[in-house]
Amino acid sequence: MKKNANRLLVIDDEAEICNLFSSVAEQLGFEVRTTGEADEFISLNRDFNPTVVILDLHMPQADGVEVLRRLADDKCRAGILVVSGADSRVLGSAERLGANRGLNMLGAMQKPVQLQELRGKLGDAKLAQRKFTPADLEQAIAKEQLLVLFLPKVAVHDNGGWSVEGSEALVRWDHPELGILMPDEFIPMAEDTGLIKPLTGFVLNETVEQLRRWHDLGLDLNVAVNVAAQLLEDLEFPDQVSKVLAQHDVEGSKLILEITESAAMGDRQTSMDVLTRLRLKGIELAIDDFGTGYSSLRQLFYMPFSELKIDASFVLEVAESNEARTMVETMVTLAHNLGMSACCEGVETQEIWDFVASINCDKVQGFLISRPIDSDSLVKLVREWQDAGSTRKIFDVASGKRSRSVAMTE
Ligand code: C2E
Ligand code: MG
Ligand code: MG
Repeated sequence: MKKNANRLLVIDDEAEICNLFSSVAEQLGFEVRTTGEADEFISLNRDFNPTVVILDLHMPQADGVEVLRRLADDKCRAGILVVSGADSRVLGSAERLGANRGLNMLGAMQKPVQLQELRGKLGDAKLAQRKFTPADLEQAIAKEQLLVLFLPKVAVHDNGGWSVEGSEALVRWDHPELGILMPDEFIPMAEDTGLIKPLTGFVLNETVEQLRRWHDLGLDLNVAVNVAAQLLEDLEFPDQVSKVLAQHDVEGSKLILEITESAAMGDRQTSMDVLTRLRLKGIELAIDDFGTGYSSLRQLFYMPFSELKIDASFVLEVAESNEARTMVETMVTLAHNLGMSACCEGVETQEIWDFVASINCDKVQGFLISRPIDSDSLVKLVREWQDAGSTRKIFDVASGKRSRSVAMTE
């Protein structure tokens, strides 16, 4: 696969800091390299060609100011963030030094670095280097530069075991110069310009085509497609979806449409009409990122959803926070009491999975099970799970005690 469009190179002699920066940056879609040595850093800068550099000014074996000079000699075009435990005046003068040498300085952060600040600076860096226009995105859709990956979803059985029931389609833009772009970099533009309609049409078609293929391979899988709420204001949308299903001879019940709650409230009459007709065609509807918007309860009350997806921001916290556990458990109960299934997003650790299983969550997705993968890898993963005994137990049913599950990672 091509290089990620967002590449971060970190030089810091403390391995823990490198790991922390990596995990924050990876969550934001960066590919990351780290090192504690100046020479390795300079060669990585040439080979890896980062879009953002984080440089610790204070390292026992390397002088940060000298590294800045070497980056300037190399005509480095990455955005540069300097960090140091030194006082802010030292940081400020290092920043000016870099800028005077023609480097693209993004700012300075004092150690200990606040994660919120780091997230903000990396997010700004991503947006600052966005170099495409709506016309480019339109071309990309027409020229099929978009690709669809699949995030596996596992569901629990009555006996407490789990199996892969399907996946969620997630779009990427394989940009000819910038590399792979993540949805948060271009979906907002697509929504603002009306391009979300052809984009969703493309994703839907690719996805339903894969559904047909999986079915032909003997795999009974479903798939979810993300739908921006503004498409629910288009009365023709249900017929367009039916047409794609008919073209590939796929049943509506294999398709789930995920709608993000905060925006779904535009014109309630029209959205109700569209959602009800989709349901009548047998298509499942999920409310996505539940708990993050303001209209969640009203929507649940009015709209014919069949699945509630609990946002990763709650799920990721359950190991540390009592409040998060209460929130997640309450949302699962709410889904069940309304006759819906509950799916937890962001299951990154076994501890999280054990907890959500213990509160009877029906479905889970997350990096512990798999990252988003292509269709062939999904087929492989489904077969591996089948070969491992069709289901993976998280509970020892006979004794009622919890046993370790054998979740598979990539
Ligand atoms: P989403 O629908 O909530 O999708 C889940 C996102 O969480 C995906 O990010 C996925 O890679 C990520 N994720 C999965 N497991 C974990 C985990 O264990 N930990 C963490 N930290 N993250 C996890 P991705 O692919 O970057 O997509 C972001 C959002 O972009 C999606 O959120 C969805 O709202 C939107 N999106 C993606 N594809 C499409 C599309 O085709 N159409 C529309 N309208 N929106 C899309
Ligand atoms: Mg989704
Ligand atoms: Mg979600």
